[in-house]
Amino acid sequence: MLRSQARPGGQGSTDSVPYPAGVDLPHDELTPATRAVALGRPDREPGVSVNPPVTFTSTYIAAEQVEYARVRNPTWTALEEVLGGLEGGEALIFASGLAAIDAVLTLVPPGGRVIAPGHAYNGTAGLLREAAAEGRLEVITLDISDTDAVVAALDGLEGGRDLLYIESPTNPMMEVAEIPVLVREARARGILTAVDNTFATPLLQTPLADGADLVVHSATKYLSGHSDVLMGAVVTAPSEQGRALRERLLTRRTLHGAIPGPMEAWIVLRGIRTLAVRLERAAQNAQTLVERLGAHDAVTRVRYPGFGAMIAIEVGEGAEAADRVCAATRLWTHSTSLGGVESQLERRRAQPLEVETVPESLIRLSVGIEDVEDLWRDLSRALDGA
Ligand SMILES: *Cc1c(COP(=O)(O)O)cnc(C)c1O
Repeated sequence: MLRSQARPGGQGSTDSVPYPAGVDLPHDELTPATRAVALGRPDREPGVSVNPPVTFTSTYIAAEQVEYARVRNPTWTALEEVLGGLEGGEALIFASGLAAIDAVLTLVPPGGRVIAPGHAYNGTAGLLREAAAEGRLEVITLDISDTDAVVAALDGLEGGRDLLYIESPTNPMMEVAEIPVLVREARARGILTAVDNTFATPLLQTPLADGADLVVHSATKYLSGHSDVLMGAVVTAPSEQGRALRERLLTRRTLHGAIPGPMEAWIVLRGIRTLAVRLERAAQNAQTLVERLGAHDAVTRVRYPGFGAMIAIEVGEGAEAADRVCAATRLWTHSTSLGGVESQLERRRAQPLEVETVPESLIRLSVGIEDVEDLWRDLSRALDGA
């Protein structure tokens, strides 16, 4: 039983909300953990399903408006309501994290400047390198945790044109940006700010509340949480400027066509319901492991920002010892990607696109929700043999 409600804005109001939060839902009182569970559901009416259906369709019966499913899908809308409710803005989902990031970069006009972390996710770094090589953007990379350097670089940017692109913590170097300070300085200069919030998730960090204009996600990671789907999202600020950006991004999504499938959207929606318990357990495990890793002879450095469930360690020098560790674990899976319920490890420089200042000996650990004693037994044995 679908209900369509017009939402303000939305060119051709192709953007409707079939699943308004139930009238009984005390929205403003809900904590994020509860929002992840309660939002994005059908109205509470007798006989209605508690979950939104997967809407497989390419088009809709014509109403005042003729609508096509590259523009909207009710299953997307349900997920967007949850994600928007968690980040404190309005979400648009995309086919992958990189599709979402690419859409954000198209907001910068040709010849514009982008400040970005030198150690951004390697796909992001690749996109920026490509845009710079083709002369579309001028890209300034720096250590995003060096607030003074970022603020100084902001002086070389032009308000209303350029972009400060933050990722924090960075993947895989785990550098942490002072988001509130950077956002404030960028705003004072009229410069847009986007934050990749994939590692922290909206449960640990909400950049829009600090004044950022845009948040991007690889929903492939923690939001879905089970290593079974790729998806991305952009969340825009609940301001006039945010809504204008959202319109531009909706147009990009529609015209560039980087849309997710309805089944994928449903899988991410299913995953996001348990985000709070997954993340809490994984972060607890990570903290225990960080203490033990710091005391292990084979580990020369541990990078952990103090929150979340991502850790980077260095083992020996060069690639060999680290490769031996990755090959030796039996419970931890040697695989790329992160944020799933299962623990994963990877030597990042084994990726051909990885940024060259990431040490060859660095192993990225994505800590899952298994029993921490099982995780430690497996990892410490692999380290013993390094
Ligand atoms: C994985 C990842 C991306 C890219 O997301 P995809 O869903 O793989 O396209 C972007 N940013 C960060 C921080 C990531 O970890």
